[in-house]
Amino acid sequence: MRSFIRDVPDFPEPGIVFKDITPLLGDNGAFDAALDAMVEPYLNTGVTKVVGVEARGFIFAAPIALKLDAGFIPVRKPGKLPYDVHHQVYDLEYGTDRVEIHRDAAVPEDNVLVVDDVLATGGTGRATTDLIRALGAHVVGFSVLAELAFLGGRERLGGVDVHAVVRYGAS
Ligand code: AMP
Repeated sequence: MRSFIRDVPDFPEPGIVFKDITPLLGDNGAFDAALDAMVEPYLNTGVTKVVGVEARGFIFAAPIALKLDAGFIPVRKPGKLPYDVHHQVYDLEYGTDRVEIHRDAAVPEDNVLVVDDVLATGGTGRATTDLIRALGAHVVGFSVLAELAFLGGRERLGGVDVHAVVRYGAS
């Protein structure tokens, strides 16, 4: 799987090594294997909804939702969702950002799996799990293709079950 994830140095800014997943997406066998590996721990765990985080998270979350016979929920950047939203603000290296979810996207009976491409600092993931809990639903886990373990995102997510197909470095 690692051979399909390309390191792009100094993107989008100097000092960042960007994990480019487009080689994996372009190979149907690798893409399918990645989806199977991301979903495997959550088969038969009662997942009712899969949340995808804008934008690359959508690519993985929607097919994983279908594999789990679950619904798909988009979590989006501000101003993109048309109906009533609940929002969560979170810290970036400089400043803050914000994610939103439709208020009626999940109910307390829902068991929710969160899916993204890369777990880095965990800021987006933490804001997303906070949104789901604010709707009263249960977070089953957080599944990613790749984890930058040296950034400590897993710790920032607290007690959430984190599953990463590929891990880079140690935390
Ligand atoms: P974070 O909130 O720091 O865990 O990361 C937020 C989002 O940024 C994730 O959804 C990733 O898609 C993306 N991201 C962060 N760092 C990288 C990286 N080095 N390579 C690719 N994507 C990244």
